[in-house]
Amino acid sequence: MAQQGILIVISGPSGTGKGTICRELLRSNPRLKYSISATTRKPRTGEVDGVNYIFVARDQFQAMIHNNELLEWAEVYGNYYGTPRQYVLEQLQNGYDVVLEIDTQGAMKVKETFPEGVFIYIIPPSLDELADRIYKRGTDSLESIKTRLNCASVELAQAQNYHYVVVNDQVAAAVQKVEIIITAEKFRAERN
Ligand code: 5GP
Repeated sequence: MAQQGILIVISGPSGTGKGTICRELLRSNPRLKYSISATTRKPRTGEVDGVNYIFVARDQFQAMIHNNELLEWAEVYGNYYGTPRQYVLEQLQNGYDVVLEIDTQGAMKVKETFPEGVFIYIIPPSLDELADRIYKRGTDSLESIKTRLNCASVELAQAQNYHYVVVNDQVAAAVQKVEIIITAEKFRAERN
């Protein structure tokens, strides 16, 4: 049987660039699988159902909770987000490493069920830089930007609950650091 894959949990304040880092990681590492979350948030321009997220109505999301289909779920900025359980477990069993890009509440729930997971927190070089990035991304309303920035300073304190903290100054350098972490953690997993 294939060696079980490792679970990699990536969090960080909104606008920190974790999405870009994950995309780059997946592009160059075919052994990595991305867990597509379910959410009740409306799709942003350019987002595709089943690719970026599985977009569902609130009652559908509640049914998923009720049927125990989610590995974890959380309410973030007034919307529900959750990780479909079956996909993650199947991929791990087939020897793939799985990336969850989820918020800190969800990550702490996963830590309870998967203490052997690798928890990585991505931070921006500064809060000013973060504000600039969210604004330039142009995908969020002013109200949403305000909420996200208010949450960011609180969220940054969560870094202490993660195994690794990576500063996303340059995307390529941050991706390389995460790849090094994954390589080292795979060696460690193989010994256990
Ligand atoms: P966004 O709306 O910007 O795509 O995501 C908002 C926040 O929800 C981000 O911090 C993102 O990491 C988090 N998120 C995305 N998917 C999940 C999920 O499945 N579970 C949890 N707990 N958070 C998620």
